[in-house]
Amino acid sequence: MIEITNLSKSFGPLNVLKSIDLKIKEQEVVVLIGASGSGKSTLLRCLNFLEVAENGEISIDSEKVISQKTNLNKVREKVGMVFQHFNLFPHKTVLENIIEAPIFVRGENKEEAREKARILLKKVGLQDKAHFYPDQLSGGQKQRVAIARALAMEPKVMLFDEPTSALDPELVGEVLQVMKELAREGMTMVIVTHEMGFAREVADRVVMLADGNIIEEGHPEDIFTNPKHERTQRFLNQLL
Ligand code: ADP
Ligand code: MG
Repeated sequence: MIEITNLSKSFGPLNVLKSIDLKIKEQEVVVLIGASGSGKSTLLRCLNFLEVAENGEISIDSEKVISQKTNLNKVREKVGMVFQHFNLFPHKTVLENIIEAPIFVRGENKEEAREKARILLKKVGLQDKAHFYPDQLSGGQKQRVAIARALAMEPKVMLFDEPTSALDPELVGEVLQVMKELAREGMTMVIVTHEMGFAREVADRVVMLADGNIIEEGHPEDIFTNPKHERTQRFLNQLL
């Protein structure tokens, strides 16, 4: 589903991603870990073309992306993204937030988009919040709306960048629950998170980034119980 080859990205003199190779299969759930500043967000942003990598290739769902010919909007539609800080439109209701892109980007008609939004709201447990504004919702509810909004574009892949890091601890579970359900349904997902319990339960693979490289990857059970790289050991110990 995703194939990243020799990807690199710098900001000025700072070489954030050095040479990343990563293949992600359809329906696979990959959790990205690594210290703050190790390039996790940059890697996700490259996958969604919010950042342009200097070198390397990315293909998503068999479409090669780093080339002049690529229609970025078309590829972006395949990749849903959920951010730490929700990024909902504050002046739009929950329903309006969800139907905006399906109508204006995908060209769905309003009725069709509304109907789908209602189904998605039910899926994330917010069917009674369609006409609320974001600031009338808790952080956990906002994040569930953000997930529904991303799903409304019918993406092939969902990217999550620390989706629960800005939430009060008691609200983390409801968001992870929705993500767990998505994984169970077979969504291909790349998730940056420090929720190691979740990673252990849901991830097919854990990938550790350090200094712009993937230094270790494997099944969560192996990475968490028997990390091989000293940097991974240190990182995991800090989370305990
Ligand atoms: P992580 O998500 O793992 O914490 P990031 O990908 O956000 O790491 O950042 C990696 C490094 O790149 C950091 O040193 C950060 O300061 C730098 N960086 C990220 N985005 C930019 C940007 N737009 N301009 C300059 N430097 C950036
Ligand atoms: Mg980050």
